[in-house]
Amino acid sequence: MAEIRSVCVFCGSSNSATQVYKDAAQKLGKILGKNDVRLVYGGGQVGLMGTIANSALEADGKVTGFIPQYLHEFEKGHTGITELFIVDTMHERKRLMADHSDAFVILPGGFGTLDEICEILTWKQLRLHYKPIVFVDVDKYWSPLFDTFVQHMIDKNFVHAEHKNFYVIVDDVDQVLPTLKGIPGAGPDFVNKWW
Ligand code: AMP
Repeated sequence: MAEIRSVCVFCGSSNSATQVYKDAAQKLGKILGKNDVRLVYGGGQVGLMGTIANSALEADGKVTGFIPQYLHEFEKGHTGITELFIVDTMHERKRLMADHSDAFVILPGGFGTLDEICEILTWKQLRLHYKPIVFVDVDKYWSPLFDTFVQHMIDKNFVHAEHKNFYVIVDDVDQVLPTLKGIPGAGPDFVNKWW
């Protein structure tokens, strides 16, 4: 069983997301804070990112952010969090977020979130990490991706069906910590990417 002391959350930076998504970010931040699980995220104050960070802080949680210098202005680097690291590049940001986390959780988001999803799944496929990954399918946000496009990639043999085991999809943020804690410590015992 994986020990989870820090969770990297990927989520949208849009301030215009529907309330149901903001509510989920708010609730997850509170859950992490109350359970003393450190939130690791992109370091901004905007969108769901800012919502989850503020909510974790309000619940006395620890929050670590990594933001590239040039995004400090647009995404309003959150100087009120436990630790904010200003980095040089987007790649460095993603590497550090991954290195500082025991698991990954994905809330709704846009292209940036998709980029982060693809990278973290790719790294798992290439055996660069074995950390748990949980998608929160808030209001069925991720269903079109998994039910349609991921299934299409599997049907056409570009993705191995067994690699769906790289992640778990839950409906609600309540299920995140129990799910993460129940995922067995993974090792390199899955089908080769180059089957
Ligand atoms: P979005 O889902 O598009 O709102 O973006 C969510 C977060 O991902 C924002 O903090 C973006 O700055 C960040 N992001 C977008 N593209 C990248 C990338 N290539 N590497 C790292 N972070 C990114």
